[in-house]
Amino acid sequence: KLYNQVQDLKGNIRVYCRVRPFLPGQSSSTSTVGHIDDGNIMIITPSKYGKGHKSFSFNKVFGPFATQEEVFSDTQPLIRSVLDGYNVCIFAYGQTGAGKTYTMSGPEELTEESFGVNYRALNDLFHISKQRKDTFCYEIAVQMIEIYNEQVRDLLTNDGPQKRLGIHNGSQKGLAVPNANLVPVTSTTEVIELMNIGQKNRAVSATAMNDRSSRSHSCLTIHVQGRELASGAIFRGCMHLVDLAGSERVNKSEAKGDRLKEAQHINKSLSALGDVISALAQKSSHIPYRNSKLTQLLQDSLGGQAKTLMFVHISPEVDAISETLSTLKFAERVA
Ligand code: ADP
Ligand code: MG
Repeated sequence: KLYNQVQDLKGNIRVYCRVRPFLPGQSSSTSTVGHIDDGNIMIITPSKYGKGHKSFSFNKVFGPFATQEEVFSDTQPLIRSVLDGYNVCIFAYGQTGAGKTYTMSGPEELTEESFGVNYRALNDLFHISKQRKDTFCYEIAVQMIEIYNEQVRDLLTNDGPQKRLGIHNGSQKGLAVPNANLVPVTSTTEVIELMNIGQKNRAVSATAMNDRSSRSHSCLTIHVQGRELASGAIFRGCMHLVDLAGSERVNKSEAKGDRLKEAQHINKSLSALGDVISALAQKSSHIPYRNSKLTQLLQDSLGGQAKTLMFVHISPEVDAISETLSTLKFAERVA
Protein backbone atom coordinates (compact mmCIF):
# COMPACT_ATOMS: atom_id res chain seq x y z
CA LYS A 1 0.00 0.00 0.00
CA LEU A 2 2.66 2.44 1.05
CA TYR A 3 4.62 1.56 -2.06
CA ASN A 4 1.63 2.27 -4.30
CA GLN A 5 1.23 5.70 -2.70
CA VAL A 6 4.87 6.47 -3.26
CA GLN A 7 4.54 5.28 -6.86
CA ASP A 8 1.53 7.50 -7.43
CA LEU A 9 3.52 10.51 -6.34
CA LYS A 10 6.48 9.67 -8.52
CA GLY A 11 4.55 8.37 -11.50
CA ASN A 12 4.57 4.79 -12.67
CA ILE A 13 7.87 4.82 -14.50
CA ARG A 14 11.16 4.12 -12.80
CA VAL A 15 14.64 3.84 -14.24
CA TYR A 16 17.48 1.98 -12.54
CA CYS A 17 21.03 2.02 -13.84
CA ARG A 18 23.34 -0.98 -13.34
CA VAL A 19 27.08 -0.98 -13.98
CA ARG A 20 28.67 -4.28 -14.94
CA PRO A 21 31.95 -5.13 -13.15
CA PHE A 22 35.09 -5.72 -15.18
CA LEU A 23 35.16 -9.35 -16.27
CA PRO A 24 37.88 -11.79 -15.20
CA GLY A 25 40.97 -11.08 -17.26
CA GLN A 26 40.01 -7.48 -18.03
CA SER A 27 42.25 -4.80 -16.65
CA SER A 28 40.23 -2.62 -14.33
CA SER A 29 42.78 0.20 -14.18
CA THR A 30 40.72 2.50 -16.36
CA SER A 31 37.02 2.70 -15.78
CA THR A 32 34.73 5.32 -17.23
CA VAL A 33 32.56 5.10 -14.15
CA GLY A 34 33.39 7.63 -11.47
CA HIS A 35 31.49 8.36 -8.30
CA ILE A 36 28.22 6.52 -7.73
CA ASP A 37 25.69 7.19 -5.02
CA ASP A 38 22.13 6.06 -4.49
CA GLY A 39 20.65 7.82 -7.52
CA ASN A 40 23.58 9.46 -9.32
CA ILE A 41 26.38 8.28 -11.51
CA MET A 42 29.32 10.21 -12.86
CA ILE A 43 30.90 9.19 -16.16
CA ILE A 44 34.46 10.16 -16.88
CA THR A 45 35.26 10.57 -20.55
CA PRO A 46 38.89 9.73 -21.36
CA SER A 47 41.03 12.34 -23.07
CA LYS A 48 40.77 10.57 -26.43
CA TYR A 49 37.04 11.37 -26.36
CA GLY A 50 37.32 14.88 -24.97
CA LYS A 51 38.30 14.70 -21.32
CA GLY A 52 35.57 15.66 -18.89
CA HIS A 53 32.78 14.28 -16.79
CA LYS A 54 29.06 14.15 -16.89
CA SER A 55 26.54 13.20 -14.21
CA PHE A 56 23.25 11.38 -14.69
CA SER A 57 20.41 10.87 -12.21
CA PHE A 58 18.08 7.91 -11.94
CA ASN A 59 15.72 6.41 -9.39
CA LYS A 60 18.55 4.13 -8.37
CA VAL A 61 22.09 3.32 -9.43
CA PHE A 62 23.62 -0.11 -8.79
CA GLY A 63 27.42 -0.21 -8.85
CA PRO A 64 29.52 -3.12 -10.08
CA PHE A 65 29.40 -4.88 -6.72
CA ALA A 66 25.63 -4.92 -6.31
CA THR A 67 24.39 -8.48 -5.88
CA GLN A 68 21.45 -10.04 -7.69
CA GLU A 69 19.62 -10.07 -4.37
CA GLU A 70 20.18 -6.35 -3.81
CA VAL A 71 19.03 -5.53 -7.31
CA PHE A 72 15.93 -7.62 -6.85
CA SER A 73 15.00 -6.17 -3.47
CA ASP A 74 14.26 -2.85 -5.16
CA THR A 75 12.13 -4.63 -7.75
CA GLN A 76 10.10 -6.73 -5.35
CA PRO A 77 7.23 -4.31 -4.64
CA LEU A 78 6.35 -4.33 -8.35
CA ILE A 79 6.03 -8.11 -8.26
CA ARG A 80 3.57 -7.92 -5.42
CA SER A 81 1.39 -5.48 -7.32
CA VAL A 82 0.81 -8.07 -10.08
CA LEU A 83 -1.05 -10.15 -7.49
CA ASP A 84 -3.26 -7.12 -6.83
CA GLY A 85 -4.24 -6.98 -10.50
CA TYR A 86 -1.73 -4.46 -11.87
CA ASN A 87 0.18 -4.88 -15.11
CA VAL A 88 3.93 -4.50 -14.94
CA CYS A 89 6.73 -4.23 -17.52
CA ILE A 90 10.37 -4.69 -16.63
CA PHE A 91 12.97 -4.01 -19.33
CA ALA A 92 16.67 -4.66 -19.60
CA TYR A 93 18.29 -2.12 -21.94
CA GLY A 94 21.92 -1.67 -22.96
CA GLN A 95 24.61 -2.59 -25.44
CA THR A 96 25.51 -6.24 -25.97
CA GLY A 97 27.73 -7.46 -23.14
CA ALA A 98 26.60 -4.84 -20.62
CA GLY A 99 24.71 -7.34 -18.44
CA LYS A 100 21.05 -7.41 -19.58
CA THR A 101 20.74 -11.19 -19.54
CA TYR A 102 22.68 -11.33 -16.28
CA THR A 103 20.10 -9.08 -14.62
CA MET A 104 17.05 -10.83 -16.04
CA SER A 105 18.15 -14.49 -16.10
CA GLY A 106 21.55 -14.70 -14.41
CA PRO A 107 24.94 -15.92 -15.63
CA GLU A 108 25.29 -19.08 -17.70
CA GLU A 109 26.35 -21.13 -14.69
CA LEU A 110 23.36 -20.54 -12.44
CA THR A 111 23.54 -20.83 -8.68
CA GLU A 112 20.89 -19.86 -6.17
CA GLU A 113 22.66 -16.54 -5.42
CA SER A 114 22.98 -15.68 -9.08
CA PHE A 115 19.37 -16.19 -10.16
CA GLY A 116 18.10 -13.15 -12.01
CA VAL A 117 14.91 -11.12 -11.79
CA ASN A 118 12.80 -13.60 -13.84
CA TYR A 119 13.30 -16.49 -11.52
CA ARG A 120 13.10 -14.40 -8.35
CA ALA A 121 9.88 -12.76 -9.54
CA LEU A 122 8.15 -16.09 -10.08
CA ASN A 123 9.48 -17.41 -6.81
CA ASP A 124 7.95 -14.40 -5.04
CA LEU A 125 4.64 -14.81 -6.84
CA PHE A 126 4.37 -18.43 -5.69
CA HIS A 127 5.39 -17.48 -2.19
CA ILE A 128 2.97 -14.59 -1.75
CA SER A 129 0.08 -16.42 -3.39
CA LYS A 130 0.53 -19.21 -0.82
CA GLN A 131 0.51 -16.66 2.00
CA ARG A 132 -2.79 -15.32 0.70
CA LYS A 133 -4.43 -18.70 0.13
CA ASP A 134 -7.16 -18.17 2.74
CA THR A 135 -8.41 -15.08 0.91
CA PHE A 136 -7.45 -15.57 -2.75
CA CYS A 137 -7.00 -18.40 -5.20
CA TYR A 138 -4.36 -17.65 -7.84
CA GLU A 139 -3.51 -19.30 -11.15
CA ILE A 140 -0.13 -18.46 -12.67
CA ALA A 141 0.84 -19.21 -16.29
CA VAL A 142 3.72 -18.10 -18.47
CA GLN A 143 4.45 -17.37 -22.12
CA MET A 144 7.85 -16.77 -23.64
CA ILE A 145 8.23 -15.16 -27.03
CA GLU A 146 10.88 -13.41 -29.05
CA ILE A 147 10.64 -10.55 -31.50
CA TYR A 148 13.19 -10.79 -34.26
CA ASN A 149 13.09 -8.54 -37.32
CA GLU A 150 9.61 -7.37 -36.32
CA GLN A 151 8.29 -10.95 -36.26
CA VAL A 152 6.86 -12.59 -33.16
CA ARG A 153 7.81 -16.19 -32.37
CA ASP A 154 6.96 -18.63 -29.60
CA LEU A 155 9.92 -19.79 -27.50
CA LEU A 156 7.91 -22.36 -25.53
CA THR A 157 7.25 -24.81 -28.29
CA ASN A 158 8.88 -28.09 -29.20
CA ASP A 159 8.47 -27.39 -32.91
CA GLY A 160 11.19 -24.75 -32.90
CA PRO A 161 10.35 -21.06 -32.94
CA GLN A 162 9.50 -20.99 -36.64
CA LYS A 163 5.84 -20.06 -36.75
CA ARG A 164 5.10 -16.33 -36.85
CA LEU A 165 2.47 -15.15 -34.42
CA GLY A 166 0.06 -12.22 -34.45
CA ILE A 167 -0.58 -9.62 -31.76
CA HIS A 168 -4.14 -8.92 -30.58
CA ASN A 169 -4.65 -6.07 -28.16
CA GLY A 170 -7.60 -5.89 -25.84
CA SER A 171 -8.38 -9.60 -26.07
CA GLN A 172 -10.70 -10.93 -23.40
CA LYS A 173 -8.20 -12.90 -21.40
CA GLY A 174 -5.58 -10.22 -21.63
CA LEU A 175 -3.37 -12.30 -23.92
CA ALA A 176 -1.59 -10.08 -26.41
CA VAL A 177 -0.27 -13.15 -28.26
CA PRO A 178 -3.14 -15.65 -27.94
CA ASN A 179 -1.47 -18.28 -30.12
CA ALA A 180 1.73 -18.57 -28.10
CA ASN A 181 1.83 -21.47 -25.69
CA LEU A 182 0.48 -20.52 -22.27
CA VAL A 183 1.90 -22.88 -19.69
CA PRO A 184 0.46 -23.09 -16.16
CA VAL A 185 3.15 -23.20 -13.48
CA THR A 186 2.98 -24.04 -9.81
CA SER A 187 6.60 -24.37 -8.76
CA THR A 188 10.00 -22.88 -9.42
CA THR A 189 11.25 -26.26 -10.66
CA GLU A 190 8.74 -26.12 -13.52
CA VAL A 191 9.78 -22.58 -14.25
CA ILE A 192 13.46 -23.50 -14.55
CA GLU A 193 12.57 -26.27 -17.03
CA LEU A 194 10.54 -23.83 -19.12
CA MET A 195 13.28 -21.24 -19.12
CA ASN A 196 15.68 -23.89 -20.36
CA ILE A 197 13.35 -24.71 -23.27
CA GLY A 198 13.08 -21.01 -24.05
CA GLN A 199 16.85 -20.55 -23.94
CA LYS A 200 17.35 -23.56 -26.23
CA ASN A 201 14.87 -22.24 -28.76
CA ARG A 202 16.68 -18.92 -28.76
CA ALA A 203 19.99 -20.70 -29.22
CA VAL A 204 18.76 -22.81 -32.16
CA SER A 205 18.71 -19.79 -34.35
CA ALA A 206 22.00 -18.53 -32.93
CA THR A 207 24.08 -21.05 -34.86
CA ALA A 208 22.45 -20.08 -38.12
CA MET A 209 22.98 -16.39 -37.61
CA ASN A 210 25.68 -15.76 -35.09
CA ASP A 211 24.43 -14.63 -31.71
CA ARG A 212 20.87 -13.91 -32.61
CA SER A 213 19.99 -13.51 -28.93
CA SER A 214 21.64 -10.11 -28.91
CA ARG A 215 19.58 -9.05 -31.91
CA SER A 216 16.14 -10.12 -30.75
CA HIS A 217 13.95 -9.03 -27.87
CA SER A 218 12.87 -11.87 -25.61
CA CYS A 219 9.85 -11.52 -23.41
CA LEU A 220 8.75 -13.71 -20.54
CA THR A 221 5.15 -12.90 -19.68
CA ILE A 222 3.65 -14.04 -16.41
CA HIS A 223 -0.14 -14.09 -16.34
CA VAL A 224 -1.85 -14.11 -12.98
CA GLN A 225 -5.53 -14.72 -12.44
CA GLY A 226 -6.85 -14.15 -8.96
CA ARG A 227 -10.22 -15.04 -7.45
CA GLU A 228 -11.33 -13.54 -4.19
CA LEU A 229 -12.76 -16.48 -2.28
CA ALA A 230 -15.42 -14.51 -0.35
CA SER A 231 -16.93 -12.62 -3.29
CA GLY A 232 -15.89 -14.84 -6.21
CA ALA A 233 -14.59 -11.73 -7.97
CA ILE A 234 -11.99 -12.47 -10.65
CA PHE A 235 -9.12 -10.15 -11.57
CA ARG A 236 -6.03 -10.39 -13.75
CA GLY A 237 -2.56 -8.98 -13.70
CA CYS A 238 0.40 -9.64 -15.91
CA MET A 239 4.08 -8.97 -15.90
CA HIS A 240 6.35 -8.73 -18.94
CA LEU A 241 10.04 -9.32 -18.32
CA VAL A 242 11.88 -8.14 -21.41
CA ASP A 243 15.51 -8.76 -22.32
CA LEU A 244 15.89 -6.25 -25.15
CA ALA A 245 18.12 -6.55 -28.21
CA GLY A 246 21.52 -4.89 -27.88
CA SER A 247 21.24 -1.12 -28.27
CA GLU A 248 24.64 -0.63 -29.97
CA ARG A 249 24.77 1.26 -33.21
CA VAL A 250 26.18 -0.79 -36.03
CA ASN A 251 28.87 0.60 -38.22
CA LYS A 252 26.98 1.66 -41.33
CA SER A 253 29.91 1.06 -43.61
CA GLU A 254 30.29 -2.52 -42.37
CA ALA A 255 26.69 -3.65 -42.04
CA LYS A 256 25.14 -4.99 -45.20
CA GLY A 257 22.25 -7.26 -46.13
CA ASP A 258 20.72 -9.22 -43.24
CA ARG A 259 22.86 -7.53 -40.63
CA LEU A 260 21.79 -4.09 -41.78
CA LYS A 261 18.14 -5.14 -41.84
CA GLU A 262 18.42 -6.50 -38.28
CA ALA A 263 20.05 -3.30 -37.11
CA GLN A 264 17.33 -1.17 -38.67
CA HIS A 265 14.60 -3.25 -37.01
CA ILE A 266 16.33 -2.96 -33.65
CA ASN A 267 16.84 0.80 -33.95
CA LYS A 268 13.24 1.24 -34.94
CA SER A 269 11.82 -0.79 -32.07
CA LEU A 270 14.10 0.63 -29.38
CA SER A 271 13.36 4.18 -30.43
CA ALA A 272 9.64 3.35 -30.59
CA LEU A 273 9.91 2.07 -27.02
CA GLY A 274 11.74 5.23 -25.95
CA ASP A 275 9.07 7.37 -27.63
CA VAL A 276 6.24 5.52 -25.87
CA ILE A 277 7.81 5.70 -22.43
CA SER A 278 8.78 9.34 -22.74
CA ALA A 279 5.28 10.23 -24.02
CA LEU A 280 3.88 8.44 -20.97
CA ALA A 281 6.31 10.21 -18.64
CA GLN A 282 5.23 13.56 -20.09
CA LYS A 283 1.58 12.54 -19.81
CA SER A 284 1.17 13.24 -23.50
CA SER A 285 -2.31 12.75 -24.97
CA HIS A 286 -1.00 10.66 -27.87
CA ILE A 287 1.05 7.57 -27.09
CA PRO A 288 2.63 6.15 -30.28
CA TYR A 289 2.16 2.42 -29.61
CA ARG A 290 1.70 1.45 -33.25
CA ASN A 291 5.27 2.09 -34.39
CA SER A 292 6.77 -1.30 -33.51
CA LYS A 293 5.82 -4.88 -32.67
CA LEU A 294 7.41 -4.46 -29.25
CA THR A 295 5.23 -1.51 -28.24
CA GLN A 296 2.14 -3.16 -29.74
CA LEU A 297 2.84 -6.28 -27.73
CA LEU A 298 3.16 -4.30 -24.51
CA GLN A 299 0.43 -1.75 -25.18
CA ASP A 300 -1.92 -3.01 -22.46
CA SER A 301 0.91 -3.01 -19.94
CA LEU A 302 2.46 0.39 -20.67
CA GLY A 303 0.56 3.40 -19.41
CA GLY A 304 -2.72 3.69 -17.52
CA GLN A 305 -2.39 1.99 -14.15
CA ALA A 306 0.52 -0.13 -15.33
CA LYS A 307 3.97 0.12 -13.77
CA THR A 308 7.18 0.24 -15.73
CA LEU A 309 10.76 -0.38 -14.66
CA MET A 310 13.69 0.05 -17.02
CA PHE A 311 17.08 -1.33 -16.06
CA VAL A 312 19.75 0.40 -18.12
CA HIS A 313 23.06 -1.41 -18.25
CA ILE A 314 26.47 0.03 -18.89
CA SER A 315 29.94 -1.46 -19.29
CA PRO A 316 32.83 0.25 -17.48
CA GLU A 317 35.40 -0.08 -20.28
CA VAL A 318 36.90 2.92 -22.02
CA ASP A 319 36.14 1.33 -25.39
CA ALA A 320 32.46 1.36 -24.56
CA ILE A 321 32.31 5.07 -23.75
CA SER A 322 30.24 6.22 -26.70
CA GLU A 323 27.67 3.42 -26.22
CA THR A 324 27.67 4.17 -22.49
CA LEU A 325 26.85 7.81 -23.11
CA SER A 326 24.15 7.04 -25.64
CA THR A 327 22.61 4.46 -23.29
CA LEU A 328 22.51 6.98 -20.45
CA LYS A 329 21.04 9.64 -22.72
CA PHE A 330 18.32 7.22 -23.82
CA ALA A 331 17.61 6.46 -20.18
CA GLU A 332 17.50 10.11 -19.19
CA ARG A 333 14.89 10.73 -21.85
CA VAL A 334 12.53 8.11 -20.41
CA ALA A 335 13.23 8.85 -16.73
P1 ADP B 1 24.06 -8.82 -22.42
O1 ADP B 1 22.91 -9.76 -22.18
O2 ADP B 1 23.71 -7.38 -22.15
O3 ADP B 1 24.65 -9.00 -23.78
P2 ADP B 1 25.38 -10.45 -20.46
O4 ADP B 1 24.35 -10.47 -19.39
O5 ADP B 1 25.45 -11.68 -21.32
O6 ADP B 1 25.23 -9.16 -21.38
O7 ADP B 1 26.78 -10.13 -19.77
C1 ADP B 1 28.02 -10.25 -20.45
C2 ADP B 1 29.01 -10.99 -19.55
O8 ADP B 1 29.22 -10.27 -18.34
C3 ADP B 1 28.49 -12.36 -19.11
O9 ADP B 1 29.59 -13.23 -19.04
C4 ADP B 1 27.92 -12.11 -17.74
O10 ADP B 1 27.91 -13.27 -16.93
C5 ADP B 1 28.84 -11.03 -17.19
N1 ADP B 1 28.15 -10.10 -16.28
C6 ADP B 1 27.21 -9.21 -16.62
N2 ADP B 1 26.78 -8.51 -15.55
C7 ADP B 1 27.46 -8.98 -14.51
C8 ADP B 1 27.45 -8.67 -13.11
N3 ADP B 1 26.65 -7.72 -12.59
N4 ADP B 1 28.29 -9.36 -12.31
C9 ADP B 1 29.12 -10.30 -12.81
N5 ADP B 1 29.16 -10.64 -14.12
C10 ADP B 1 28.35 -10.00 -14.96
MG1 MG C 1 21.97 -11.06 -23.52
